[in-house]
Formats: sequence, C-alpha cells, structure tokens
Amino acid sequence: MPETTDNTESKRGDMSKYHLKCLSCGKEYEDDHFRMQCDAQHEPSLLRSVYIDKKLTLHKDKPGMFRFYDYLPVERTIEAKGVPVTYKSTGLAEYLGLENLYIIFNGYWPEKNARMDTASFKELEAPSVLARISEHNRDILVVASAGNTGRAFANICSSNKIPLVLVVPEVSVKKIWSIRPFNECVKLICAGGNSDYFNAISLAGAITQLDGFFPEGGARNVGRRDGMATTVLDAATTIGKTPDHYFQAIGSGTGGIAAWESYLRLTEDGSYGNGNMKLHLSQNHPFTPMTDAWIEGSRDIAPMSEEEAKEKIHSITASVLTNRKPPYSITGGVYDVLNASSGHMYSVTNPEIAEAMDLFEERENIDICSAAGVAAGSLIKAVKNKTVNKEDHIALNITGGGENKLRREHDLHFLNPVLSISEQEIGSDGVTKKLENMFAAVL
Ligand SMILES: [Zn+2]
Repeated sequence: MPETTDNTESKRGDMSKYHLKCLSCGKEYEDDHFRMQCDAQHEPSLLRSVYIDKKLTLHKDKPGMFRFYDYLPVERTIEAKGVPVTYKSTGLAEYLGLENLYIIFNGYWPEKNARMDTASFKELEAPSVLARISEHNRDILVVASAGNTGRAFANICSSNKIPLVLVVPEVSVKKIWSIRPFNECVKLICAGGNSDYFNAISLAGAITQLDGFFPEGGARNVGRRDGMATTVLDAATTIGKTPDHYFQAIGSGTGGIAAWESYLRLTEDGSYGNGNMKLHLSQNHPFTPMTDAWIEGSRDIAPMSEEEAKEKIHSITASVLTNRKPPYSITGGVYDVLNASSGHMYSVTNPEIAEAMDLFEERENIDICSAAGVAAGSLIKAVKNKTVNKEDHIALNITGGGENKLRREHDLHFLNPVLSISEQEIGSDGVTKKLENMFAAVL
C-alpha cells in the first residue's frame, strides 16, 4: 500500500474529504460534526461515512490510529498512540491446525508495539469521535459506558484536556483507571445500585437534555464506527488482502458493523483482493440476545424483561458484552451486516471462555480479556465445526489484552465518581432538576 508523509488536508482546500449517507433512503449530508441520524421520516437507520478518495494511503507520520486518516471522519488529529497490531499466529495457529491465522491485537504489549494503555480496543473509538468534533466546540461531551469505552474516553480526554462527563453503572466504577493521573476535565458519574449499562445510557440521556452537554451517540456515531473499523484496515494492510473470516465478540455489535463497513471500503479501494469476508460474531451465554435472534432468522430481538436480562448479565464472565438494546434491527445494523456477509453468530459459555483465555496465553504468551476469550472461543468452535478451512485467511480480533501485564508494570490511578444517581431516580421526573443542581455544584 502507498505511504506518504504529505499533508493531505492542504491538498483538498475547503472541500470535506467525506460526507454522510443514510443507509435507508440514500440522502446525503455534509458532516456538521454532530449529526447522528437522517432527517427523513422512515424506519431507524444508520448513516455511513462515504470517503471521496477511495484509495487508502497509510500516514505513518500521524499519531496512533490516525495513520488510517483517509478512512476516518475527521479533519484533524489529537494525541493518541493506540493502534491495532496484526501479526501472523504460530502458537495458536499450530494448535488449531490453521495455516493463515492472524491476530489483530488491541491492548498493551510494548514488545509487539501494541501501546493501548487502557488494554482495550475501545481506545480506537475515542480519538476519532473526539477529533470529529470541532476544536472550537465549547459544550461538554457525555458518554455512557459499561466500562472499557469509558476508560478509553476518560484516558484520551484527560491527556488531550477535553471536558468529559462519563456515566457508568456503579459496578463498573473500578474499570475507570489510567496509568497516569486523570486531569480534572474528566468527571465520573455513576448509575447507582443494581444499575446496568442500559440504566447508564438512560442517565446519560437525561444529562444531555441539559444546556451545555451533548451525547456521544454510540453506534450511530460514524466517528466511533470508523475508529473501530481500523482493526480490519490494519489486518488487510498487514495480510495484503481482506481476511476471509473475521472473528469478534460483540456487546452492542458496533465493532461488527464497523468491520463490515471497513471491508466495503477496502473493496472499493481495490488493492486488497476481491474475496468475501464473513463475519463471525459472538456473545457470552446466557446473555445472547443477538445470537438467539440471528439463529432464529429474526430481524428483531425477542423481548426480555429487565429482571431476566439483569439476572443473565450478572451471570456472565464478559461483563462488557451486555447491551440490552443493541443496534441489531436498525437499517445498516448487526442483522444487515451479518446477512450481507453470510455471517455466523456464536454463544460461548463461561468455562469455554476460561479455556480459550488460558489457551491463548499459553500459545501466544500474552493475557487476554474475557471478551476476547469469547471471540477466541468462537474460533475454536468454528474450527471444530469446520465452518472455516485450514488454509483460509482468518482474522481474530483480540479486543483487549495485556491488562495483567500492564498491571504488573504500572501503578494504576482510579477516577472517583463526583455524583451517584440511584436506579429509581434515573427514570423519575425530578431527575433533570436534580442533575442541574448537582452539576452547578461540581462543574
Ligand atoms: Zn434517510
């Protein structure tokens, strides 16, 4: 692939390098840096960024993931050193009898040049979401998270001194850490008691109703998706072609959608072969709403009571994979990308995750997080079921790794919540007024 150190921005003058396109009606929009949806009246649909120049050039002079600047919806870069590192496996590949297994490693492994200091691929979302926003913006970004996304935003906002209000369930507060002290521009709020990720999303929604705050947007934010899509860009530029199979665990499914969009862009570039890429997405049994719907051939997720969902969520190892309202049915969402790629979905049990995590560490010499264990577990199943052939080019997205190593090598700083809102209060009428008063006191 071509490489350059040129300043591409200056070549285009005032023309934006991309626009947004509605996947339902096709309407196109110039990006105002905040747009998350189409204005037309139709069923919910994602917008996708369309890059004018189809050719991907690697910009190794730009920081971290911004080397994939051409396929990121940004007109500037910020400080961020995390980038996926793809390498050809020997240990796990030999064990599984695979000839072309590639690991997309996201995490902390300095010996492999992997420097995501939060040990999670969520560090690919924050830089592109933040760089998409104009540097002249004065409103405060609000992000809801079950843990890893929050840690990534807290770290990247802190190092770039960008104000952030981060909302996490109380149970996830311990996941918000850094190897450096946090800047005071980052404020942590928790959804208290038995709250889960969905409660945190509701609370974040209430905060964005206040003046001076705006939502990050989740899967609807092209900055988030195109940031995560760099995993496939790194795999394809390393392998020299798009992989035949892409394995990843999903909670909301945003990473799976992003992987597919990345594949489509590389197909338009034309330099990475003309093969198909099948998506192999996985969830942690028994909380498997998307796996269940896909296996039933349904575009809709079966209704589940809040009580049942929380019971299942509390019983799984990979607690980050717990979005109760994932973008599965939405046009351009998980169902559509699985369909387009003739993909597969897997359900992986807690013991299977533990086995996959141990196997990975033994064979590849680095620890991985439980969500990555779900993906590795799904690959083991696919090999057993002969869903993949031994000569196929397979990319396994290790969405988080090296955390144990990082904890051995660094002292961690934790962020303490400035506010806690109980589960009962979150849905109540008085919550907005209460938030307003509390923010006046802490910001
Ligand atoms: Zn539309």
